Amino acid sequence: MQGFKTVTKKSSLPPTPIKHVFALDFTHVCGYLSANMTYLTVPIAAIDFDQAAKQIKSAITAGAEMLEIRADYLRNLSVELVEKIIVKAKKASKTPLPLIVTCRDKQQGGSIAYPIQLRLNILTAALNAGAEFIDFEYENFLTPQSKEKIQLALSHNPSARLILSAHNFEGKFDNIIKLHRHIQTVYSVAIPKLVYKANHINDCFDALDLLHKTGGERIIFCMGEAGLVSRIIAKKLDSFVTFAITDEKTATAPGQITIEKFKKLYRYDSINSDTKLHGTIASPVAHSLSPAIHNACFTKAKENRLYLPLLVDGGKDEFDLFLQNITRRPWLNFSSFSVTLPHKQNAISYVKEKNGFVEPLTEKIGASNTLLLDTDGNLSAYNTDYSGALDAIIDTLDNGLDELKDLPTAILGAGGAARALVAGLTNAGAKVKIYNRTVEKAEELAAKFDCQYAGLDDLPNLDAKLLINCTSIGMSPNVNATPIPQKYLKSTMTVFDTIYTPTETLLLKQAKKKKAKTINGIAMFVNQAATQFKLYTGKNADTKLMRKTVSDCLAAKQTV
Ligand code: NAP
Repeated sequence: MQGFKTVTKKSSLPPTPIKHVFALDFTHVCGYLSANMTYLTVPIAAIDFDQAAKQIKSAITAGAEMLEIRADYLRNLSVELVEKIIVKAKKASKTPLPLIVTCRDKQQGGSIAYPIQLRLNILTAALNAGAEFIDFEYENFLTPQSKEKIQLALSHNPSARLILSAHNFEGKFDNIIKLHRHIQTVYSVAIPKLVYKANHINDCFDALDLLHKTGGERIIFCMGEAGLVSRIIAKKLDSFVTFAITDEKTATAPGQITIEKFKKLYRYDSINSDTKLHGTIASPVAHSLSPAIHNACFTKAKENRLYLPLLVDGGKDEFDLFLQNITRRPWLNFSSFSVTLPHKQNAISYVKEKNGFVEPLTEKIGASNTLLLDTDGNLSAYNTDYSGALDAIIDTLDNGLDELKDLPTAILGAGGAARALVAGLTNAGAKVKIYNRTVEKAEELAAKFDCQYAGLDDLPNLDAKLLINCTSIGMSPNVNATPIPQKYLKSTMTVFDTIYTPTETLLLKQAKKKKAKTINGIAMFVNQAATQFKLYTGKNADTKLMRKTVSDCLAAKQTV
């Protein structure tokens, strides 16, 4: 029986005593596991030995803490080939990395359909060749022959461990708690691995709850773009493993991200159970630069905080459910959110419904881009867009704030950004006229702030000194679009495009050609983010670092 022999084989796992308590006293055989360690594990999904060797080298160079050899990807699979790869992996670094060997059933996400007998032979040979872990499907383990063979191999390799896994590539498990219990009942010293596809970020909470409620080694996360957050905070919640790739081509499951993103963008090395969480709620969210700038500033300010992209698809119902899910789980330590398309109005409604605090001008704007959540679960709503935009304009005008008084100003758009700009500019005394595709929206906004409005067909009569684009026309990828024909631009104008991807929109290029002054969206973006940072941490943001991070990301066309 596995679990009662003394270790004789040298393990490559770091020599820290194990923290967890098992159903069987397992600590004396597995005393090398690191306490509180979530191993950043890279799958080696190669078709032959040479490709495996290359992938192992890249994974180690990138900073992998564990490797998973996916034998089901190997063509001409044989015991000898897998043994050779294990030897190669063990010799590839000064301190050999721990290895998982998996030969996945095709029906559970395996690459090539290999017979069960060969798959079992591969796993038992892997144990004998020095793999610390083998991963086998829980369902197949219920077959007596498979169970017997694996248990026998484990009894000959007492320091090795079995991962019993269950995957659902379609959606949530019917009852993940029951499934977890079954796996533990079937083989109490196995490491349960439960992985399913999140079709919406709200699907992730089953996985997060299970991680929170259970202890010991377990691997639990969600696949898919909506599941990304569960892969990143797996470390905060002490999952045994989270998977990363070295480049997009070597992904073995939907939603995997690179080690570089884990480490550089998502502060992987500094995440621990006390890390406070923040994030940007949006749909889509992949293009957002907020995680990059806030995480860079958290690092600089030595703050134990992590900023996440939170993809909340859908409308008010999905947004409300997401915030309910968060507020019911104070142990997640979420303390604030940035909110952007399409949820800025949903944010303010939600806070009002929950009797939270809404800052007065934010209330008047009717849209919030910043939510704070205190430790008692109380929410407050702010808008940092208007001050961010206003500061960007004032910095450019020759006479600063004074010049805004009675300045003829045209605002294109009547959505969330436009509301913030109209509020800020009318407050400063500018004479604002709103132009929008949907005239009723322009009319409603104009009535609220006592200014003029028109449809886009009135643009030929435009007479403004300050022109601001608050529509999404011209935003990446539609970079050849512009909200206003070039012929209406004049050298006497200051033209401000709130869009920051790309940095220089077609509108700004054409305005420059007409010798107009221009302001791009980055200034506004950095100003509003700096105000958010202050609200999040109480500290002043390093705006130079924010600007540099934005430029670096845009230059590298990094889409986070
Ligand atoms: P929003 O609330 O959805 O409003 C979008 C606006 O664009 C609406 O007025 C809409 O007109 C108009 N629009 C969209 N597509 C159009 C089209 N094909 N033709 C004519 N009008 C169109 O969005 P938002 O939050 O205000 O964001 C708008 C822009 O501001 C985005 O590009 C965003 O990047 C930028 N922004 C920048 C910052 C920054 O920090 N730099 C901050 C916030 C927003 P209808 O009313 O007719 O639909």
